[in-house]
Amino acid sequence: MTETTAANGTPCAIVTGATSGIGAAIASALAAEGYALLLVGRREAAGQAMADKFRAQGVEAAFHAADLSDTTAPEAVVQAANAAFGRVDVLINNAGILIQGTAEDTTDADWNRVMDINLNSVFRLSRAVLPALRAQGGGAIVNIASDWALVGAKGALAYAVSKAAVAQLTRCMALDHAHEGIRVNAVCPGDTDTPMLAAGLTGAARAQRVAEYGAAIPMGRIGTPEDIAGVAAFLVSDAARYMTGTLIPVDGGASAD
Ligand code: NAD
Repeated sequence: MTETTAANGTPCAIVTGATSGIGAAIASALAAEGYALLLVGRREAAGQAMADKFRAQGVEAAFHAADLSDTTAPEAVVQAANAAFGRVDVLINNAGILIQGTAEDTTDADWNRVMDINLNSVFRLSRAVLPALRAQGGGAIVNIASDWALVGAKGALAYAVSKAAVAQLTRCMALDHAHEGIRVNAVCPGDTDTPMLAAGLTGAARAQRVAEYGAAIPMGRIGTPEDIAGVAAFLVSDAARYMTGTLIPVDGGASAD
């Protein structure tokens, strides 16, 4: 069931980082729930092909190319959604990057790049979308954080700090906008089988990493993008109408260990 019934068209969801991994799975899950999709990503050809595929399935979809580290990009994303669908009901802040390193091997440039994409763009896009959500009488923002927002991480300082800040942004925005019917929640994935996790590995080396990481997880395997997407779709649905400010680990039990 969708968050908002269409008064002036199909409810619309913006999904960032939609062309791969978890973002692509979330786009499919929301399409199945009847949302029109504004797919946001950097890769024009992949994004347009994805929008074409959804349209061929009867799903209203458009692609908007954006580098979210550009400070002007978030306003343009919301304008694109309004232009394509005339409304916005849901924002999924999914785009992110991982640069590994302890304090000593994280350069200022690495630190700033991670913060620009993982944190600052989430702030700017969430701020930019509020008027459009308010115009619908409410809506839902889901931030894709990480279980490293909840527990410490070794060798991924900037990334883990950025995700912990997203967790706090989630709680604070939830409190600031609860009275407007705008719900803000976060999904905190553990290791998930996406290009980010494989980091350039292919074939046997990739399979070995997936197996090694899976063996360390209580449920005995790493997550699939669909494992994460199902929880994101739940959070925007009417079933989660009384939930805001929550951080939900989806990690096969890893953060409970
Ligand atoms: P991914 O690399 O497949 O997806 C990340 C997406 O973000 C890509 O589509 C990429 O193009 C996009 N992106 C990166 N920088 C961008 C920029 N400047 N502008 C616009 N788009 C940009 O990896 P994923 O695992 O699907 O990651 C999705 C989210 O899940 C990320 O926020 C990531 O931190 C989080 N996450 C992933 C894991 C995991 O193990 N894979 C675990 C916890 C959290």
